[in-house]
Amino acid sequence: MLNFDDKTAVAVSGGKDSVSLLHILAKIEKKHPKASLLAITVDEGIKGYRDEALKIASENCDELGIKHVVTSFRELYGFTLDEIVERLKRKGESGLTPCAYCGVLRRKALNTAARNVGADKLATAHTLDDETQTILLNILHGDVLRIAREKPVTDEAHPKLVQKVKPFCEIPEKETALYAYVRRIRFQSTPCPYASEALRNDIRQMLNRMEEKHTGIKFTVFKSMERIRPALEQIVKKEGLKECYECGEPTTERICKTCQMLRELA
Ligand SMILES: [Zn+2]
Repeated sequence: MLNFDDKTAVAVSGGKDSVSLLHILAKIEKKHPKASLLAITVDEGIKGYRDEALKIASENCDELGIKHVVTSFRELYGFTLDEIVERLKRKGESGLTPCAYCGVLRRKALNTAARNVGADKLATAHTLDDETQTILLNILHGDVLRIAREKPVTDEAHPKLVQKVKPFCEIPEKETALYAYVRRIRFQSTPCPYASEALRNDIRQMLNRMEEKHTGIKFTVFKSMERIRPALEQIVKKEGLKECYECGEPTTERICKTCQMLRELA
């Protein structure tokens, strides 16, 4: 996933997974004089939640001597997530959850920030649990082609897209949590107040129940998808990436998802 001379940007939310990843990559990076590391945190603008996480992320960066870059929804898009949720409530008609908006906007924010600092890789702390949940979620949503795009190491599909890597994709969440506890790493443990992905929660519970009865089942789901993915990629390839008519960012449509969402909110 990483080369000896990579400049790696780590997406750090302040939760246990991302803070553990930062500590582990910092340890590895020390052995590679040509490599460099920095952390990126996206401030979505969630009152009473993100402020604490930002502080924890920045304390961990200080401790490790890592540069910390903070980017925000307000500065990039003109709205905080709190304001977006307020607008969605007033409109009342949108079927999308705050998580759906946040996911799209955060993805673009991370890519833009990583590109601006000249990063070769953008590392995110998605664990085996996140990956298997997403696989099943995409299947249950009927969005299977997405599985081809969201993989442990993304393709260099467009010069404006920083290659994304997920070093924890085969690590169970329990182990990243254990690492943080054993190393006495400070992390934010309060969940996001908007966390409302009902279907993902059901899938998480189901997978945890199955894992308890049939050890290794999360790996099996993950590995099965790794084997099917090349076939899915053959279909996805035909789509190709264009540049958004409004913001110039890579997209499969004429106008990217972010711009579509911002239009709806305006
Ligand atoms: Zn756009």
